[in-house]
Amino acid sequence: MPFDPYGLALGKVLLPAWERVRGRPTFELLASLRRTERASADELAALRSGLLRRLVRHAFHHTHHYRDVLEAAGIGPDDVRSVDDLARVPVLERATAQATVDERTAPWPPVAVTKTTSGSTGQPLVVRFSAESRHWRDATRWRGFGWGGYHMGHKALHLWGVPAIEPTGFARVKLAVDRKLRRDVYANCMVRSKENLRAMVDTIQRERPQAIAGYAQAIADLARFVNAEGLRTWDTIPVIYGAERLWPHDRSDVAQAFGPAVFETYGCREFMLMGAECEAHDGLHESVENLIVEILVREDSGRLRPARPGEQGEVAVTDLHNLACPFIRYLTGDLAVARPPAPCPCGRTLPRFGPVEGRVTDTMRDADGNPVEGILFNILFLNMAKHTRQFQVVQRSDRRLVLRVVPTVPGYLPPDAEALIREFVAKHLRGIPLDIEVVREITLTRAGKLQRVIVEPADN
Ligand SMILES: [Zn+2]
Repeated sequence: MPFDPYGLALGKVLLPAWERVRGRPTFELLASLRRTERASADELAALRSGLLRRLVRHAFHHTHHYRDVLEAAGIGPDDVRSVDDLARVPVLERATAQATVDERTAPWPPVAVTKTTSGSTGQPLVVRFSAESRHWRDATRWRGFGWGGYHMGHKALHLWGVPAIEPTGFARVKLAVDRKLRRDVYANCMVRSKENLRAMVDTIQRERPQAIAGYAQAIADLARFVNAEGLRTWDTIPVIYGAERLWPHDRSDVAQAFGPAVFETYGCREFMLMGAECEAHDGLHESVENLIVEILVREDSGRLRPARPGEQGEVAVTDLHNLACPFIRYLTGDLAVARPPAPCPCGRTLPRFGPVEGRVTDTMRDADGNPVEGILFNILFLNMAKHTRQFQVVQRSDRRLVLRVVPTVPGYLPPDAEALIREFVAKHLRGIPLDIEVVREITLTRAGKLQRVIVEPADN
């Protein structure tokens, strides 16, 4: 790595100062996380049990939803004493989470951040969290990225989508300052035409990023383009990917294009980083100081039990630091594989899980055959949360697109909403004819999931 005085100053002086100006203890938390990631199992269990007791007690006393749910389950405010006791608390299904945002919001502490997420089922969900939770999220994310070699102060190229909602006024200024200070470079990776991929390579050659972060499949497509055109002119650039699976063949393409430092992360808008890969590249270390990840198997009776090592199950997350609007045993809609408790060669004591499955979004094609990210439609429908409840996109074998929409007002999709959808599809899926079907419900898969994007095998 070349000597980088600005990066060093940024990481050690400027960013800590900026975080302190904003009243954020990110750096102190990061230092403490770097210690607890090697703490004994007993110390970690004690830490989590304490935070969990506080969360359940608070949720019981200060939210209508959890008071009702816990009382109905025969659980008092002090009955959940350890992580094992958590199994007695009913899970929070996504539909319930959507319907109970106000009932789960406590009068204290204040909500510091509110955001909307489309999640993996395509139903928008409002997420509120406290300042404390935000600080833990930030610190946890920086720790996990750090395992992959991406540290604060580094210049990173981010391959993400178009912004879900255009920031305005002060938010825009703050974002610009943040990005400038952090030297982040953003590339829209949704449509991977040759021109767009070429522009991303130009950005890498011009900006010389010290890390690349983004959607797994976007990074894989970029890597294949770099390899096919023989464009690699750089040493190893650490790659931190998430949101989708990177298959073994993708991983070798990415390693060829950017070097062997390829790291999986698992996060979501509801909770940020839930797990990250270390240099042992064998599963994801759980962010245990910030949340509890459970992997649960639904039996035929409907009962949920913990997955056995090697078994795949549904991910349930308990957010330990968000007292403003608690999430306890929230089913994220993702599937992950449970692992036996075994020490990791890296020396960190945080338990591991993964790989994470079920986050694969199909890649669509525009009329010229360019790959277009399925996640694109999540972004569209985030903007339309007030008009639509659910959606499903099907790309037929002849490339026609069928978009099924369940509007908020049954049977009625307002003309301006339809116009927005058509404009969006025309822009991102150039030359593809679109049929919109307004429906009352969308058929779930046999596993009870809503498959958001379906791509039928192409004719040619
Ligand atoms: Zn490890």
